[in-house]
Amino acid sequence: MSIFGLVQKITIAIDGYSSCGKSTLAKTLAQKLHYNYIDTGAMYRAVTLYALRHKLIDETTLEVNVNELIKKLPDIEISFEFNTATHHSDVILNGENVEKEIRTMQVSERVSKISSIKEVREKMVTAQRQMGKHKAVVLDGRDIGTHVFPKAELKLFMTADMDVRTKRRMDEYSSKGQYFSFEEVKQSLMQRDYDDINRIESPLIKADDAVVLDNSELSREEQLEFVLKLISDLQLIANKEEQAKH
Ligand code: C5P
Repeated sequence: MSIFGLVQKITIAIDGYSSCGKSTLAKTLAQKLHYNYIDTGAMYRAVTLYALRHKLIDETTLEVNVNELIKKLPDIEISFEFNTATHHSDVILNGENVEKEIRTMQVSERVSKISSIKEVREKMVTAQRQMGKHKAVVLDGRDIGTHVFPKAELKLFMTADMDVRTKRRMDEYSSKGQYFSFEEVKQSLMQRDYDDINRIESPLIKADDAVVLDNSELSREEQLEFVLKLISDLQLIANKEEQAKH
């Protein structure tokens, strides 16, 4: 059976380090399978943008006014809207498309502090579970397979060589007219990984049943082929189990 006509709708959880190509893979998979894609990092970035705009982050110390942000959480509404030009969903913060504004170095350097706040995570996780409750969904983030959807049928944990990731992130910034040195970008990625791994609330950790995918030396096509094979194997197993019941 073609995997594009999957009978059983599944949840695909993609976790891993920063700039490993999680969203590229997630978007491609969602398109191929006609699944929804939820970029959970974009949601934490949107909260960070909100905090920046409301002066809840001290620009010198980068300290977050946590109490004030928690008070304002009910005022923060995040959703996704399909962009017909890019064929991907853009993140909407209180009715405003902020897809571009959340991808800056300023937001990247502050997002891990915001995402470590328990109340922020609770709000985001509730929304993610709601959006993904009907399955047929690909989510990428840091805690999807461990916390948001621990029963996801397919879990991937992505990693790649640090220099490869730095180069990818530099290219992403420069394609948007933002230029930083290799060292600056590398330091920022390392710091974010450190913060994400070492936080108390849902730290970045590989789920026991996640398949590790190191794509340092894989092309996008090879990576996609690898994952599609995993999905079709899952489908075969599900079919066999179904047949055994009859
Ligand atoms: O994936 P992206 O790099 O856009 O994520 C930005 C940040 O959001 C991460 O560094 C992490 O701090 C936070 N995040 C998270 N949990 C997720 C997704 C992202 O804590 N599920």
